[in-house]
Amino acid sequence: MARAVWQNSGKISRFILESVLRILLSNDDGYFAPGLAALAEALAPLGQVTVVAPERDRSGASNSLTLDRPLRLRTAANGFHFVNGTPTDCVHLAVTGMLDYLPDIVVSGINLGSNMGDDTLYSGTVAAATEGYLLGIPSIAFSLSSHKGKGQYFETAGRLARELVERTIAQPFGQPVLLNVNVPDIPWDQLKGSVVTRLGRRHKAEPAVKQTTPRGETVYWVGAAGPAADASEGTDFHAVEHGFASITPLQIDLTHAAQIGAVNGWLGQDTAGL
Ligand code: MN
Repeated sequence: MARAVWQNSGKISRFILESVLRILLSNDDGYFAPGLAALAEALAPLGQVTVVAPERDRSGASNSLTLDRPLRLRTAANGFHFVNGTPTDCVHLAVTGMLDYLPDIVVSGINLGSNMGDDTLYSGTVAAATEGYLLGIPSIAFSLSSHKGKGQYFETAGRLARELVERTIAQPFGQPVLLNVNVPDIPWDQLKGSVVTRLGRRHKAEPAVKQTTPRGETVYWVGAAGPAADASEGTDFHAVEHGFASITPLQIDLTHAAQIGAVNGWLGQDTAGL
């Protein structure tokens, strides 16, 4: 485990690493994605960066493991490893099979496009970080909230990634941590800061798009995500819309605790004695 300290001398606060920080990177856009290269470049000065990412775009893969075929780990010319599987496969395989150490942190991204509100359930970017979290490693997902189909300011998200990774190591949070970070696609000096948010909500998705192939076969494209339904103050949507990076702490327990009593009542069961 790498150790690090914040060193304060005069006005300058510096991050001093006392041993090599071992960072595992993944994403869902694929090992060739510009956002992944930007993330690797931003974090390289902090320690040893290992990249294990899907061999193709697996956006929307969510938390899926490939169980019906073997996975192959190959290495690109730039040293990035790629796998014929999902983002979850990549982190799982790296931590449980490839690496002979537990990484200090798992970082996923930088995704091209936001992962906010209900989108987090489908996101492969968030899933890669979730897998790190489930394996006991502090994990952070980064997404660039670009509306243009191509990210302009990956370096803004990269710089924030570096700051948050430094902080995670220098100042451990004290609890297992899974953070979902969305960064506006704007220059660093226009970023107003970071706010801790809750997930917003979306309306239901646009209808599927039906098409006919040249062979007369009917095919469908999954429709676009719906517009935000809850983008009120305190949500991730609101923060990004107003020029802030959004940091949402996530949990995995989907239990609707407040409804346990109501479901028992619906079943005509007494909750006493539990
Ligand atoms: Mn993606």
